[in-house]
Amino acid sequence: MKRIKQLIKPLGSVPVCKEWQTEIMELADPVYVIIPLEYPGQIFYKPLVSIGDQVRRYQVIGRSKLGHCVHSSISGIVKDILPVWTARIFNVPAVLIQRNNVPALTPEEISEQFQQDHSTLSTVKRLKALGIISPWTTPGQFHHEEEDTFPEVHTIVVKGVNEEPTHFVCESLLKMEREKLIRGFQQLANFAPRGRIILTVPDHLTTFARDAFGKYAEISGLSSEYKDRIERVVVPRLSGTDIANTEPYRARGVAVISCENLLNLVDAVEDGIPFVDKYLTISGTEIDRPFILKVPIGTTLRHVMKFLHLNTQNYSRILVGGPMKGIAMYTDLTPLTKTSHGMYLMKESEIPLEVNLTCINCGRCTRVCPSRLQVHLIGRYAEHNMFIDAMDFNPQLCHECGLCGYVCPAHRPLVQLIKMTKKYIGKQDEYVQQVECSSKSPLERWELDFHNADIMAAGDASGSNREPAQIRG
Ligand code: SF4
Ligand code: SF4
Repeated sequence: MKRIKQLIKPLGSVPVCKEWQTEIMELADPVYVIIPLEYPGQIFYKPLVSIGDQVRRYQVIGRSKLGHCVHSSISGIVKDILPVWTARIFNVPAVLIQRNNVPALTPEEISEQFQQDHSTLSTVKRLKALGIISPWTTPGQFHHEEEDTFPEVHTIVVKGVNEEPTHFVCESLLKMEREKLIRGFQQLANFAPRGRIILTVPDHLTTFARDAFGKYAEISGLSSEYKDRIERVVVPRLSGTDIANTEPYRARGVAVISCENLLNLVDAVEDGIPFVDKYLTISGTEIDRPFILKVPIGTTLRHVMKFLHLNTQNYSRILVGGPMKGIAMYTDLTPLTKTSHGMYLMKESEIPLEVNLTCINCGRCTRVCPSRLQVHLIGRYAEHNMFIDAMDFNPQLCHECGLCGYVCPAHRPLVQLIKMTKKYIGKQDEYVQQVECSSKSPLERWELDFHNADIMAAGDASGSNREPAQIRG
């Protein structure tokens, strides 16, 4: 009966969620973390630790040639360094750290790690050393360019709205971290004294935000409609600047930062604390009120599920991200990274009976696309490896918002086909390698090595130097 209902249900309605758990839960340190040494197309870190080393929370374990650092999110012993799959990239080197009760680095010890006097570094260099991707530099494929090659910042957009319709971290932090965010706005004004600061907030929080932050930023309310929150549409509109999808905001004098990253920036500038914990929203169609968690970077999806008493077996698919832009994971042992904003849990009844059926030329994908792309044509060329032909239809204008795939009655993987077109044009050989490396991931073996996972699932903090799971709210 469920399957019959699924066949006749209307297509294409973006999930909506109006309520969530207002408390933020903080996980105790898990038994192990897996910390990737690369972010897709962004930063490549050279490992600074070896197998058998003792590391402490906040210790630098990898550094890029431009000075970006990645830090250990727990204290423990380095057990292995091998390539793994993460939520957004394959075959990325990662450091496996087994927890022990050695104390975290003190603020003095954190700054002693840097070869030169930390206080003499520029703020941007200090942020890089503390693992913060500052809005003054350019993450993504442009990371090789230094910040002083770009024009002066004329507009800073602070995101107080999560793009995904089931994510609520930014909205929660606006209310819970009001004072610290104000200090963040003051920091932004120091960085770009002539810059205009705009804070986006959900429509219903406009009055609150004007009272709380109106002195420091212009407030712009966004509707709860997903199409009105797509960042690559919102930022050019608010800043009054034409910015192609293929170029970084910074190239046009615009800086963008989320509320969460602004809080990380305050921790780094005021106290020299590195970015080692991540906020996530855990949602799904059968989760009435999504959860917000703060977890050490490198925690596995399975650990989060066990902590929330959610049985992985009940879900056919776990997406890292949200329902619109999330990526389905092949294993729940995938580690969470600095770019994981949530988990979306799908039951079998939500998975289409068949996927990637023949396109019926209904035109829904093109009608819903904010860039008005001929999505069906790009998809058809891409699935036959005809990337050169697909490029004639401007896939580079795609925001990767996921709307086309969501409304397609043939359940075609349109966004994935567009991403392949953008990424693998002229590089079809690399695509073959991507498939081949899947069997080599050590995640299952590592999990078996830590067979006492049940203990950590109960939130047990024995052996941890941090308090057991806490609730803030
Ligand atoms: S993901 Fe689809 S709907 Fe969204 S911009 Fe790209 S082609 Fe258009
Ligand atoms: S790709 Fe899907 S939505 Fe687009 S025209 Fe074909 S069947 Fe319709």
